[in-house]
Amino acid sequence: MDKDIQHMRTAIKLAKYALDHNETPVACIFVHSKLNKVIAYGMNGTNESISGTSHAEFMGIKQIQDKFGLDPKVFSNIILYVTVEPCIMCASALKQLGIKKVVFGCGNDRFGGNGSILSIHNDTSTVKDNIYVSIPGILRKEAIMLLRYFYVRENERAPKPRAKKDRKLDKEVFPAIEWSKYLTREDFIQEFGKENVQLYDSNSDVFKEVDWKLIDSNYDERFLDTMLNEISSIEVADVDWSKKSKDS
Ligand SMILES: [Zn+2]
Repeated sequence: MDKDIQHMRTAIKLAKYALDHNETPVACIFVHSKLNKVIAYGMNGTNESISGTSHAEFMGIKQIQDKFGLDPKVFSNIILYVTVEPCIMCASALKQLGIKKVVFGCGNDRFGGNGSILSIHNDTSTVKDNIYVSIPGILRKEAIMLLRYFYVRENERAPKPRAKKDRKLDKEVFPAIEWSKYLTREDFIQEFGKENVQLYDSNSDVFKEVDWKLIDSNYDERFLDTMLNEISSIEVADVDWSKKSKDS
């Protein structure tokens, strides 16, 4: 789980970077599981490009395919860390590409494809060989707070802002996480340990405190450059696209 937190922290920083650049604070990184290195990243570009399909995941997928080609093995060792649950469209694309695993922060109540609305990741009626592991709830409150920052700011900029009482930024109350929508009790225990199973039963967060420093810090171009350097330092030859055991 430590590794998941470490990578999700990077995704959260990237989402904050997006927020500071007037974009929706949703971001992701793709990590090569054997190298344990960031191999691509994505931010939601919907504001800038006025395109409903330029979701963060697609930006990263394109980077990976441009560099490593279209071999279906490419994604079998890649883990996606995304601050908000992939939508149905992205969840389907990730499954068709054969992603190894998806880790996300908060659920996507309107469009979520990993349990909130549909469960594309473990649906056996479409590409059933590509079912992937999906873990919710990592830095969930931080992901929610970034969205709240965004909506409060958008409302302040709206021609007819809502009444002041509706604009109050809630920093205390978070919706319950309905774990059973996203993963089985057994899978929860495997990811978070048996000692935490009561959290599954009570729909409670694994992480109690919000890391305010993480989401209230500013991440400038140097942060992005450091990540881009890490990504470009990975040579195509470094990557071993050995098949998943189920393929053999
Ligand atoms: Zn999407």
